[in-house]
Order: sequence, then C-alpha cells, then structure tokens
Amino acid sequence: MTKGNINVSVENIFPLIKKFLYSDHEIFLRELISNATDATLKLKHLTSIGESKSEYGNPIIEVKIDKEGKKLHIIDQGLGMTAEEVEKYINQVAFSGAEEFLDKYKDSAKDSGIIGHFGLGFYSAFMVAEKVEIITKSHTDAPAAHWTCDGSPEFTLESSDKTDRGTEIILHIAEDSTEFLEEARIRELLLKYNKFMPVPIKFGTKEINDPNFTPETTTDKDGKETTERHKQITVDNIINNPNPAWTKQPTELEDDDYKNFYRELYPMQFEEPLFNIHLNVDYPFNLTGILYFPKMTNDLNIQKDKIQLYQNQVFVTDNVEGIVPEFLTMLRGVIDSPDIPLNVSRSYLQADGAVKKISSYITRKVADKLKSLFNSNREDFEKKWDDIKIVIEYGMLSEEKFFEKADAFALYPTVDGEFYTYEELFNKIKAKQTDKDDKLVILYASDKDAQHAYIETAKSKGYEVLLLDSPIVSHLIQKLETTKENISFARVDGDHIDNLIKKDDTTISKLSEEEKTTLDTLLKETIPSEKFMVQLEAMDSDASPFIITQPEFMRRMKEMQQTGGGG
Ligand code: ADP
Ligand code: MG
Repeated sequence: MTKGNINVSVENIFPLIKKFLYSDHEIFLRELISNATDATLKLKHLTSIGESKSEYGNPIIEVKIDKEGKKLHIIDQGLGMTAEEVEKYINQVAFSGAEEFLDKYKDSAKDSGIIGHFGLGFYSAFMVAEKVEIITKSHTDAPAAHWTCDGSPEFTLESSDKTDRGTEIILHIAEDSTEFLEEARIRELLLKYNKFMPVPIKFGTKEINDPNFTPETTTDKDGKETTERHKQITVDNIINNPNPAWTKQPTELEDDDYKNFYRELYPMQFEEPLFNIHLNVDYPFNLTGILYFPKMTNDLNIQKDKIQLYQNQVFVTDNVEGIVPEFLTMLRGVIDSPDIPLNVSRSYLQADGAVKKISSYITRKVADKLKSLFNSNREDFEKKWDDIKIVIEYGMLSEEKFFEKADAFALYPTVDGEFYTYEELFNKIKAKQTDKDDKLVILYASDKDAQHAYIETAKSKGYEVLLLDSPIVSHLIQKLETTKENISFARVDGDHIDNLIKKDDTTISKLSEEEKTTLDTLLKETIPSEKFMVQLEAMDSDASPFIITQPEFMRRMKEMQQTGGGG
C-alpha cells in the first residue's frame, strides 16, 4: 500500500477558479466589497478593544471606474495589510483571513458582522480582470506594500509610498468583461448586492441643494433685485444605507420607520403594506429580518420571490425556497442570517436541521403576530381579512403547526358581513344546525348573488350562512371536516339543508296541505328528480315560493370531476 498527497499546484487551479469559482461573474464586486467591509469592521473591532493605535474615524469604501485606463478601483480605509500579511492571506489560495480573525477573537468578535469565510472571494477578481493590483497600508507602523498578479501563479510584491491607511484593489478589466467599466452596470450591482452593507459605499458624486444655505438678495446697478434661493453643492454619492431597519431593535422603530423601509426595499411599490413582523433571534441560531404582509388578491399566481435573503447585510438571493415555508413566500421583506448554509443544493437545505428550525421559527412568529393583531384590534383585523386570508388559509392547509395556532384567529365571514372564529361559530349554531346524526352542519355560499334565494331561505329558518369564496376553500373545508369532530359543510343550495333538525322549529308553511300536494306533483313531473330536488317551504321573500336544490353528494361529485378527482 502506498500513501501520499494529491498534489494540487496553483498552476492548474487558477484557470479553474477563473471559470468555475462562481457561475455568476458579477459577484466579484460583492466579494471585493465584502473584503473591504471586513477590513473596516476588523479595524473597528481592534480600535474598540484597544489593539490598534489607529483612529477609527468615519471610514468609507469607494468604487471608482477609470474607463480610459480600463480599470476598476475598490478603495477602503480598513485595517490594511503589511507585506507579510499579503504573503500570508493573498498568496495562500483558500486560506481565509476572516476565519482566522474570528478564531483569534472568538469571544469578543462573534457579533462583529464579519462576512468572509471560504478564503476564495478575493480570487473571484480574476474572473473579470487580466491583472490585479493590491496597494495596501497597514494600520500598524509597517510600510505600505504593492502586490501585482496577472492571473498566472507568479506575482510581484514591492514597497509602495501609500501613506493613508487601508487597501486599494485595482482590477485591469479583461477584454471579455468590459461591461464592468460601465457606470450603469456597476451601479446596478452595487444596488443589488450592497444596498444595505454596513460601511458607507461611495460611487461618484452628486449635486444637492446646500442645506446650510441662506437665501441671498443682490441688487444690480439698475436697481433690480435678484434673490438666490438655493446653492448647489457637490457631495459624495453614498449608494447604500448602512443601518437598515432590520438591524435595529423593534423598540427603536416606529410604524413609519417600517413603512419607509418597505419603500426603500420596493421603490416601485406604491401600495402600503398591511403590517409587518420583526424577526429577531440569536439562539439557537442567528436571524433577523422584517417580513411584510402586502395586500393580497385572490389570485394564487401572485408574484413570489419577494423576500430577500442577506448574510451580514450582504445580499445573497431572492429565492428563499426551502428556507421560508412555501405559504409565506407570498410575503415580502428581508431575512438576514449567517447560519443558513448557502453553498448547498436546495433539496439539501430542506433537510438541514438548522434550516428546519429557522423555518418553523418564522412560521411561529407569523402566527403569533397574527394572533396579537387579532387580539389587540379585532375590528381592524376583520377589515384586513380579505387581503390576508389566502396566506392564512394556505398556511392552515400546508403546516400543521400553523393550523393549530390559526384556529384562534382564522375568520369565517357570514353573508351578512359578520366574522366568527371557528369556536364562536360552533357555539352560535350548535343548537340549531345539526342533522339527525347530531352532526353539526355548517352552511356556506360562495356567491352571494347567484345563491341569493337559497341564502334567504336558510336565513329565514334562522341558520347562519358563511360566505366562503377563496380559491382554496374546498380544500380548507375538507381539512376542517377531517380535523374537527362531527361536523360537515354543506352548500346553501345543496339538499343538506332539509336534513337539519331545528330544535326550535316554528316555521309553518303558508300553503295548505292540498295546495302543497298539487304543486309537488306538478313540479315532480316537470323536473328530473334524479338531478334536482324540489322543496316547498314558507319563504320569507314572496318572490321565491319554492326552491329547487341539487343533492349535496351530486354537487360534490361534479366538483371533483371538474378539479380532476378528489383527494
Ligand atoms: P475571506 O474573505 O473568506 O477570508 P478572501 O479570499 O476574500 O477570503 O480574502 C482573503 C484574505 O485577504 C482576507 O481574509 C483578508 O485577510 C485579506 N484581505 C482581502 N481583502 C482585503 C482588504 N481589502 N483589506 C485587508 N485585508 C484584505
Ligand atoms: Mg472575502
């Protein structure tokens, strides 16, 4: 038997990195800005524990395009590197300085928000650049260093005269990647990945009205007065919001802050959200975020992919499938968690223990929030019911835990616009809406106008009629019938209504027995009895002297055929 090491030489690895490190070349910018952010946060940490002589100040990161020189610059004012550190951190592919830093400052830096951990991010620069330079000055007294590499395993390292602390990365953009010299493209990327990163990012300058300017009136030689009301000044164009709402404590935020943040997330969305849910947990996993309930329609095809996933304020994806339960993907907002493994497949994600916990935590938080909204302002909750019911009903169908919680606040509206919880409904009708087997029968309509006559009949008998019109209601009914004991739902225009035994029945037909028999025979002759049932009753409204019903079982059969079978 022989043992040995597989020899991985950088020579063969480089082209591989270039081609396959990330399928998306554009993420090089996210990686480099993440490194610049890490360098700044590390310095912040070191100054805070007295391990740096440097002043932290107000560091920013700058991204600059040099179109003529075909260069892209990423400049930070972070802790920088000495020549030795460049050797150690840059020349060793797949050695993560971020991980090393977190190891070293385990106790104090675990909440510092440092991003890197694979030790590969920097090399993603070679996906778009034919040559990369690093000019860096450490926060220590060490002299500045200048590293250059053209993508081959050879590099040069020399001294530099850079005097201000921090690192400048210069990418010499390759011929096939000139899109990254376009201002619009870089702006798009910064807004996509870095919009909420924790260090201010400058991209160009902009003109604004000087807020400190006081209007000046001047008189010219003809005595004509002109008043200067504004003065334009040039300021840094900061592209990001380093302190997004989700990183703050719920107690620090007002209703308006949540609304403003929603507008920041979805600038093109003019409708206000109905309410929000602030997520904030640090044990047994780390997760923050804000979810919003937008106004929902009854259309099940509403746009998903609206929740954005971040890690330490770096945008990762807007596909949260597998992380958030399916029924909540209809919501909007952000989730930020360093604990979600991202370099694995979605099917693996769904089986991952930590991710499962995250998913059930989110479900619980949403249920708790709905319950507290219901408890604290029921009237308002009822008003919003139409806009949120689709999510709640969908959740009740798909997540058992949610069903149990939602039972306390899921509403069942009547045709008269009253709203009952299941328990309230049960208490209301238990005395009069049972059949001969003592089974509770819940009557419902799906269309107030089309079923008007039936609704009126049922009401005249003192029955409650629900108005259930959401697209998944037949599934919800099935679910309730199997979950709750001894109940069944019956459409108001079905035959079931005949079987109800009203314990305090006082209705008397206006027709005499003889009249009834005559009418009955007449109708039976004209209407096919295998399809419909004829019912003669004393109607409240004189407009409907009798009603024709379709047996409940037939109606269901037909419905099942239409939806392609039962189940
Ligand atoms: P990771 O970020 O996962 O540690 P990278 O390949 O992105 O790996 O970076 C490797 C290391 O190089 C970093 O951990 C850090 O020590 C160093 N480094 C990269 N960019 C900078 C920078 N702008 N300022 C200071 N150090 C940097
Ligand atoms: Mg990195």
